[in-house]
Amino acid sequence: MNALAATNRNFKLASRILGLDSKLEKSLLIPFREIKVECTIPKDDGSLVSYIGFRIQHDNSRGPMKGGIRYHPEVEPDEVNALAQLMTWKTAVVNIPYGGAKGGIGCDPNELTISELERLTRVFTQKIHDLIGVHCDVPAPDMGTNPQTMAWILDEYSKFHGYSPAVVTGKPTDLGGSLGRDAATGRGVLFATEALLNEYGKTIAGQRVVIQGFGNVGSWAAKLIHESGGKVVAVSDMSGAIKDSNGLDIPCLLEHVKEHKGVFGFDGADVIDPDSILVEDCDILIPAALGGVINRDNANHIKAKFIIEAANHPTDPQADEILSNKGVVILPDIFANSGGVTVSYFEWVQNIQGFQWDEDKVNGVLKRYITDGFKEVKGMCKTHNCDLRMGAFTLGLNRVAKATLIRGWEA
Ligand code: GLU
Repeated sequence: MNALAATNRNFKLASRILGLDSKLEKSLLIPFREIKVECTIPKDDGSLVSYIGFRIQHDNSRGPMKGGIRYHPEVEPDEVNALAQLMTWKTAVVNIPYGGAKGGIGCDPNELTISELERLTRVFTQKIHDLIGVHCDVPAPDMGTNPQTMAWILDEYSKFHGYSPAVVTGKPTDLGGSLGRDAATGRGVLFATEALLNEYGKTIAGQRVVIQGFGNVGSWAAKLIHESGGKVVAVSDMSGAIKDSNGLDIPCLLEHVKEHKGVFGFDGADVIDPDSILVEDCDILIPAALGGVINRDNANHIKAKFIIEAANHPTDPQADEILSNKGVVILPDIFANSGGVTVSYFEWVQNIQGFQWDEDKVNGVLKRYITDGFKEVKGMCKTHNCDLRMGAFTLGLNRVAKATLIRGWEA
């Protein structure tokens, strides 16, 4: 099932649980605005090359639209649409005053030089600058983008609108980025996992954890889980997959990745087939890479008791059903990976106030948002007798539906 069909399916299930009327349902589903632009840049060798960029603004009933910009070869409208919609529910689940959006450029950032990436980012910003803004739509990093990308967007945007640091989040700290933003999605994954395990009388200490993806989210999650006493037994990234049943030495692995740009070749670990990472023996499985990776082909073979969705939509609805029948507990993406956008919100608040929080405050308030969010998701599960995914979807949808209705329909 493609990403949009899967997301729409979850939306419809939640809408039915809440008993939303069909007019409201339609209005919540259709994106506010879909932008598609052609970005032509000269390559370093002088040849011209064009890329297609998107920004899909899904909903703004609860505040400015918010979401990352992804640079990846698989960026296409349906996927961006699904990701934009998920941002609307995600910001509502943790109750931060935003709507949802997502953007992306269909390119392979690993094949572009730093100056080509800068030109591409500036051209993309020139094409969307009048449709984003501090109180309208606030981009952030996602797969294939980073604080440097945000610095270029801020610089280009500021040429048109004056210096506006709050127009993007996930910036370098020298430009008003928040302390703790870089680690925030991974830290949120840790807090969310702790909240879930607590329900089962468990802590992270001693849990055997497998992580698919070792980019910003996966590597921070690994580091923080390791520091909390969890045993990270296998990880994978684009370079390959490695395993050590006694627990990988994560600080050493992080050094290795810095030097070699991937986990492959790490001393003292066994090489395993990257396709088998999801079915490795473990207590907790953390998909932290692409969407749709857990599907009906592998769901039956998954051994984990808990799945923490650090990636966006990693689990196909068919796999959801298989896993639920097996008794696997899934902490859904729109809650599990909400730490990133939550600290983005703190960054935006700091920029608007012109005041910087210290890192302890950022992490402490993040913990409160995640812990409160978990309690509210559980509350919805109880009220509607549903699983955590539907608990999170109904919580998010209900907040957005309420805001939409209170704002009213009259033109
Ligand atoms: N790209 C991240 C996400 O999918 C963060 C978005 C943001 O900070 O606006 O949630």
